Amino acid sequence: GFGTLSAASLLAETARRHPAYPALHFAGTTTTYGDLWDQTRACSGALAARGIGRGSRVAMLVPNVPDFARVYYAALSLGAVVVPIHLLFKAGEIEFVLRDSAADVVVVAAPLLAEAVPAAERAGVPVVTVLAPAADQGGPALPRLEDEAAAATPIGLHTPVHPTDAATILYTSGTTGLPKGAVGSHLAAVEQVHCSLIDSFDLRHDDVVFGGLPLFHAFGQMAVMNCAFRVGASVVLLPRFDPDQALELLVAHRATVFTAVPTMFVGMLEAAHRSDARPPLRYAVSGGAALPVTVLEAFAEAYGAEVHEGYGLTETSPSVSFNTVHEPIRPGTVGRPMWGVDVAVADAVIDHEVHLLAEPGTLGEIVVRGHNLMKGYLGRPDASAAAVVDGWFRTGDLGTLDADGIVTVVDRKKDMIIRNGYNVYPTEVEAVLVGHPDVAMAAVFGVQDPVHGQEIHAAVVGRDGHAPDAGELVPWVRERVAAFKYPRVVHVVDELPLGPSGKILKRELPGRFAPAPTTPR
Ligand code: ATP
Repeated sequence: GFGTLSAASLLAETARRHPAYPALHFAGTTTTYGDLWDQTRACSGALAARGIGRGSRVAMLVPNVPDFARVYYAALSLGAVVVPIHLLFKAGEIEFVLRDSAADVVVVAAPLLAEAVPAAERAGVPVVTVLAPAADQGGPALPRLEDEAAAATPIGLHTPVHPTDAATILYTSGTTGLPKGAVGSHLAAVEQVHCSLIDSFDLRHDDVVFGGLPLFHAFGQMAVMNCAFRVGASVVLLPRFDPDQALELLVAHRATVFTAVPTMFVGMLEAAHRSDARPPLRYAVSGGAALPVTVLEAFAEAYGAEVHEGYGLTETSPSVSFNTVHEPIRPGTVGRPMWGVDVAVADAVIDHEVHLLAEPGTLGEIVVRGHNLMKGYLGRPDASAAAVVDGWFRTGDLGTLDADGIVTVVDRKKDMIIRNGYNVYPTEVEAVLVGHPDVAMAAVFGVQDPVHGQEIHAAVVGRDGHAPDAGELVPWVRERVAAFKYPRVVHVVDELPLGPSGKILKRELPGRFAPAPTTPR
């Protein structure tokens, strides 16, 4: 009956229908769907032997290697909830997640054991390793999932779950306090995949998708792995993004779809200057942060592939809106809401009511409701009630909705700079900076200032290793935007701090540059 819909089917059904299709390409080895499902069933057996079943929590700290898919789907097929942990989390944060999610076991890739083992010991959670040599081969004296899987009886069918049962708990990175666990259901995962495949992109079984987005994050997990598995496409896994290596892999595997965050697009443009080889891309997908139109255009030119930008958040499974492959793209916008998802713009929340702005084009906070919404933040009724008001999820992003229903994200509310009482949206200024021929990446941020309240700073990375002239950039932007918006201080840096998903960690910048401006005002 209806009670048996499970996200595990995204892999299981495809493996049953198309066992010979390639599922994963990693480190020179290809794994077919049939083999991947057999390995997953063996892992399910190992986890079941540890008492994991419906409602258990399986935490995992695993990079983009085939074990990620095995563990993720083994847990789902037992009806357990997967808790993928942020790969950059330190012991204290890992311990917090293990306790907060009440993890029953944590699967850890060998290179991450140093942070994970003390955390798991303190939280009292058993550790199982992947990618570790056996103890008699010099590996750690910890149980290995591989050995347990070899000894266990593989599980055949997946455990029936209710569609609204929890499937995943994805933690926000905690830049604003303790990480919060967004609980996603089986139904939300399946709907997200189906709506993406029908409306957003026309992924096919013969597509080869770039798998460089971290799979622990909702974007890579859903838009890359789960969508590809649903149709039997293959994923080229890359554990650590490097543009030259990415280009080499894309060419070698004849990749047809490139799905990434904007900094990766910038990296691919630089790689395209160093190599003439190109993969046969059909299209590209950008999300996770604003994609400057100049980057979108340059990528389309260099790779002969149009870029479809979407918008989403961990709390919305993640996709909210998308420039679909079925209508002309609108650069600078994040396209149309997904099917079954309502997007509106609100001006305020008063007495637990969201006040929507009906006039098209009015700037306000983007609010979302629909099948993609999380069940809530695990164990945080107050945070959940603050986030979901009147059935609408408050994204914390500022944006507009035009008369055609197209969404534009202007910026995050918390990144807005207020200088002399004027609101400045960093994304707009960044788009101007990256339009300069010497600038590859830019981050604009506010620094506390006794005179102006906040001062506008920019940190820029030069193109192809050239250092742009900071003194030249200030007047260059000043000529192109209103006088209250241009950065008064430009810092030329070798690199910007990036999170594991390749997003610029903007909130680290004010602290880094606050003390002494490097260029005169
Ligand atoms: P944290 O875990 O600290 O909350 P985060 O805010 O980056 O980190 P995510 O859920 O990964 O969490 O990202 C969601 C945010 O990313 C959105 O709220 C929005 O600010 C930004 N974003 C996503 N896609 C786009 C886009 N296409 N254009 C502009 N911003 C985007």
